[in-house]
Amino acid sequence: NVDKDILLYLEGLSVSFDGFKAINELNLYIRDGELRCIIGPNGAGKTTMMDIITGKTQPDSGSAWFGQTINLLELDEPAIAQAGIGRKFQKPTVFEFLSVEENLILAMPDERSVISLLLAKLNGEQRDRIEEVLIQVGLKEQALIRAGSLSHGQKQWLEIGMLLMQKPRLLLVDEPVAGMTHQEMDRTAELLISLSGSHSVVVVEHDMDFVRQLAGKDRTVTVLHQGSVLAEGSMDQVQNNRKVIEVYLGE
Ligand code: ADP
Repeated sequence: NVDKDILLYLEGLSVSFDGFKAINELNLYIRDGELRCIIGPNGAGKTTMMDIITGKTQPDSGSAWFGQTINLLELDEPAIAQAGIGRKFQKPTVFEFLSVEENLILAMPDERSVISLLLAKLNGEQRDRIEEVLIQVGLKEQALIRAGSLSHGQKQWLEIGMLLMQKPRLLLVDEPVAGMTHQEMDRTAELLISLSGSHSVVVVEHDMDFVRQLAGKDRTVTVLHQGSVLAEGSMDQVQNNRKVIEVYLGE
């Protein structure tokens, strides 16, 4: 009896490393189209949680469902990506020596080799998709520029664009604004907010100003601590939560 609006459903997840519980009875429910920020002190289990969702780490117990029918714990990493979960790591990994557009071409779901893909003539649908993604991530003017000459922020957006080429339903984004200028942060918040609705977006972030920007007044923020959810609610609610304050003061 899973709520139909829930796209990502994690329940009772636990993982231990050498007897240490990195994830401890974690429950997390992400609605279809929701933008959710996940915060928590170092070692709270944020990375391990993302690793479980993407199939990099197998939990000792619990369940993880994507939509109504996909049991994530039965799939390996490539199958999970193919099922529609895209993950963006903190550091951008774009092909610096290729153009922005070529980076997007290589990110298309396609079995062909790099060289064949770059030499292939794109069909109309592929052209349209690339155009659409360039506009979405604000890099239309930079389409023919070498990715290596983009700013740090632009590289991050290109990498988000590369994920979008695979048409994911859920985007997992790890500390997207580390090292960005204020302007780039604002633009990144706009981009992630614009992607929600048509995608679910889970953002793990340390920068509280950025979390406040993303969460606004109404979106839910989840605080992880010692591998489980310590608090969940609006930014105002979690910031005024006694347990949350204690955990952050104790860091
Ligand atoms: P966060 O991302 O919130 O900082 P992590 O998920 O990286 O937290 O880590 C949670 C805890 O699990 C930490 O104490 C970390 O040292 C430990 N941990 C994570 N991965 C491993 C691993 N592969 N082997 C041993 N311990 C790990």
